[in-house]
Amino acid sequence: MKCQRCGKTAVIYQKYSNAHLCKSHFIEDVERKIKRDIRKFKMVERNDRIAVALSGGKDSIALLYILHKIFDKRQDLELSAITIDEGISGYREKTLSHAIKLTGELGIPHTIRSFEYAFGTTLDKLTEKKEAAACTLCGVLRKNILNKAARELGATKLAIGHNLDDEAQTILMNYLRGDVDRMTRISGAFQPRMVLRIKPLRSVPEKEVALYGFLNNLPVSTDECPYAGEALRNEIREMLNNYEVKHPGTKYSLLGGFEAVSQALRPPGMQIVQCEKCGEPSSETVCKTCRLLGR
Ligand code: SF4
Repeated sequence: MKCQRCGKTAVIYQKYSNAHLCKSHFIEDVERKIKRDIRKFKMVERNDRIAVALSGGKDSIALLYILHKIFDKRQDLELSAITIDEGISGYREKTLSHAIKLTGELGIPHTIRSFEYAFGTTLDKLTEKKEAAACTLCGVLRKNILNKAARELGATKLAIGHNLDDEAQTILMNYLRGDVDRMTRISGAFQPRMVLRIKPLRSVPEKEVALYGFLNNLPVSTDECPYAGEALRNEIREMLNNYEVKHPGTKYSLLGGFEAVSQALRPPGMQIVQCEKCGEPSSETVCKTCRLLGR
């Protein structure tokens, strides 16, 4: 198939837009979507210090690369990366080495924090107790360290590599669980002591992020976390992918619909307090991290 813009060999067919694109027009398309969202949602402002949550997986690797490409010439902006080593043996070592490689090549300051250092334990040890699902522990504890590290670095924004698939799955999961509280939180409201999270890849489908990384020769690992498999998310991923094949554009519709209702969902005066155990921001007197760690 030929690229419909220049006639060169196409590397992708985007069913949702009915477009065949060659390598350079595909890369241009991905970067256009990201720049558009950055502008539309005012993700980046003058003098921002952007910390990128860099797990070393394909999404965060692509995110750091793209933000560097877009903003490298901007003298008023600073870019740094934070990697959290959760202690997942046989998996995190590899993605960590990708993160170190890319930040080294791009000359971006890189901070590495670990569960071991912050909490005196690892995800592998915590999951042995079987008190909570691995992804719940991992997500909550990682968010805690990421926010703290970003705050300590003086970051004004924390960039997360969530792609369109992640966003659509999360929105649908929260609808199905009836979890309005979580829905208000993914809409990105300002909260005291929380570094504002931005998601520049939110309009790029997962497959396109992977292809972007491949075409740009980024260090991408195909290994999967041994704990990957949150039951409901996997079911929703499969369902959404099947639905997308039959009804191209479904994931975009889900995201667009959520944007429309997110303002109405946000409670006017959501109370954020300091956790009485660790002092971190929390919606309850004891934060979720401390509750999960049994503090
Ligand atoms: Fe953490 Fe779960 Fe992701 Fe593994 S799959 S890195 S345990 S959130």
